[in-house]
Amino acid sequence: MEEPIFRDTIVKVDLDIIRDNMMKIRAMNGDNVAIMAVVKANAYGHGACHIAQTLIDSGASYLAVATLTEALELRQVNTEFPIFILGHTPDRLLKYVVDNNITQTIFSFRQADIINRFASEHNKIAKVHIKVDTGMHRLGQQPSNNFANEILKISELSNIEMEGIFSHLALVDDAEDENQFQKFCSFVDTLDTLGIHFKYKHIADSIACVDYPQYRLNMVRPGALIYGMHSFHINYIPVVPAITMESKVSQIHRIKKGECVGYDYKWKATRDSTIATLPFGYVDGFPRELYNKGHVSINGQFAPVIGVICMDQCMADVTDIPNVDCETPVVIFGSGVDGSMTIGEVAKLLESNKNDILCRMGGRPPHIYLNEKEHN
Ligand SMILES: *Cc1c(COP(=O)(O)O)cnc(C)c1O
Repeated sequence: MEEPIFRDTIVKVDLDIIRDNMMKIRAMNGDNVAIMAVVKANAYGHGACHIAQTLIDSGASYLAVATLTEALELRQVNTEFPIFILGHTPDRLLKYVVDNNITQTIFSFRQADIINRFASEHNKIAKVHIKVDTGMHRLGQQPSNNFANEILKISELSNIEMEGIFSHLALVDDAEDENQFQKFCSFVDTLDTLGIHFKYKHIADSIACVDYPQYRLNMVRPGALIYGMHSFHINYIPVVPAITMESKVSQIHRIKKGECVGYDYKWKATRDSTIATLPFGYVDGFPRELYNKGHVSINGQFAPVIGVICMDQCMADVTDIPNVDCETPVVIFGSGVDGSMTIGEVAKLLESNKNDILCRMGGRPPHIYLNEKEHN
């Protein structure tokens, strides 16, 4: 028997759309460019452990996460597949990276030495990718003779494979992107002349791999693209959002003109009104910042969310919408054609980006997967 779904507020993820987006990304990048599929932040709210197999089946060469915790969660559902940690792992935790055959980002001989020690104790070859700072000053070392020498020393460690080298673009403008790219390439060339070669070289995230084909090198790291987000501006790829969030009305209130709704009585009825209580709040990924800005779609019609958004609930004005009752379906985030807000619209309203809005859905609401394929 199938497990019941314990809530009316759900996040739906269409795996066919994820598959389709992956096919488009692969077709665009060609057969010589490996895809490192980024599934950090619970796969941008889509559920990393649930979509991992779909990404693997669609031709990903690597799954990338931000933290060790995320890597270990993925390892539980997939014992073999290459997993990469994009972020820093503290020295004291590097043994878990080695134990679980996870590929780690490093940028110093010190880190490599620690990893090498654990790896040799367990007769393993641990894989690492070297992070180069080409301007963003987030993670990695800037190209220098010292850094090159450190990398040379790392290459002499017997239980480390320097499988990759990478950098990340700050995406300031086309000229600075090119500047960063050139810095990266020239450092890779320097290492090449020192006899240090890497299987994978990568710098392009979603935006860069669409807009700058020449930056793809032999690996790209798309996140947003897999989830159908359009943020590129020079070229185009028709990826489609795979996520929707839905709910059902929990209660109807009929209130008199002059009465108020919600915390601090922030919304006041200017006429006799019908108010629908909705069973989701900011902890479910409906941003609290949508106060006075957000709306949902009920019976295909625009329903403004009114008053302060609570942790677990919010209220909508449905005075002008016929036939709204307890359990009437509500579309929270959708395609836009049904009158619901798209992720892009919410991002604009919040003056944030789409990734921020997406990953907020990765917490409490149950996730339902459409078009799941059976695996033997
Ligand atoms: C998050 C991240 C990505 C993916 O970014 P998108 O914009 O979602 O494609 C790629 N590389 C690094 C280092 C990241 O942190």
